[in-house]
Parts: sequence; C-alpha cells; structure tokens
Amino acid sequence: MPTDPPFAVRPVRNGRGLVALQRFERDAVILDLRGRIVSAAAVWSMWDRDPRRAANCIRFGPESYLDPGSRPGAFANHSCRPATALFREGRRLLVVALRTIRVGDELTHDYSTFLGADDVWTMGCNCGERGCRGRIGRFDRLPPRTLAAYRAQGLIPDFIEATAQD
Ligand SMILES: [Zn+2]
Repeated sequence: MPTDPPFAVRPVRNGRGLVALQRFERDAVILDLRGRIVSAAAVWSMWDRDPRRAANCIRFGPESYLDPGSRPGAFANHSCRPATALFREGRRLLVVALRTIRVGDELTHDYSTFLGADDVWTMGCNCGERGCRGRIGRFDRLPPRTLAAYRAQGLIPDFIEATAQD
C-alpha cells in the first residue's frame, strides 16, 4: 500500500532532505511542491532577513518564485545526478521520478534546471556524485552535454529558456 505522504524529511548527506518511503517507477509524480507564489522583488528583499528561506525559493515564472516556507519543498536538495525533476503544470510544481526510486533514496533535483540566466545565485555543491559540477548556477552555464540531455527530456521550462534570450 502506498504510504501517505510517500516521503519524509530525514538527515541526509547535506543537512536534511526528502527521502522516499516507498518505491516509485520512472515518470511517477511523487509530490506537488506547495508554497506561496511571490514576486522576484519579494525574494530579493528576503535575502537580508532570511537568506536560507530566500535560497529555498524556486523560480516559478519570468518574475515570480515559489516560496515553500517550511513545507517539504524547502528540503528538496540538489544533486548533479538527480533522482527527480521539477515540472511546472499551471499553478503546480510537480516532482517527477527520473528513474526508479527505492525506499530510502533521497528525492533530489538539479537546481540549475530552474535557475535562469538572470538568476545570480550560485551554490558550492557537495553532492558526492561522479561528475559533480562543484558550483551550481544558471542553466545556460551547464556543461553542453548535460544541458542537451536535460533539454531532450524537457527539464528546462520555457520561462527559464526565455531568460537567456533577453
Ligand atoms: Zn554536485
């Protein structure tokens, strides 16, 4: 029987993360990342008050972000070999399995897929995967082969692609 919710916040390699409590097949929708939709300006002003919260905000449109607050989305960590990907569908941000996910696997995604060419934020990466990029930032600076693979899988949203065309 599926568990509800099918994941938990647990200690992981880097702090706390989302860990699967059940098996997922590739393409399974694992969760709907909920949060408040806020303006780019609101996130900008959040950097002074609460930088950790600001860093957890996920790009949601040309001028908007999803702020997960203390909801599960705040614990969705990056990996350079991610288990999941984010897909925006209307007002929802879905976490979808990129491969078979087993009980205990961490639900990571590649932050760069949702970082536009105008997002100045970067992060040192300690994911431990072979081929770790070391520093995570805007999608258009991904290694060409990685970017091509992500585009082929539809992982770069149109509103992210558009940020490189201004
Ligand atoms: Zn990495």
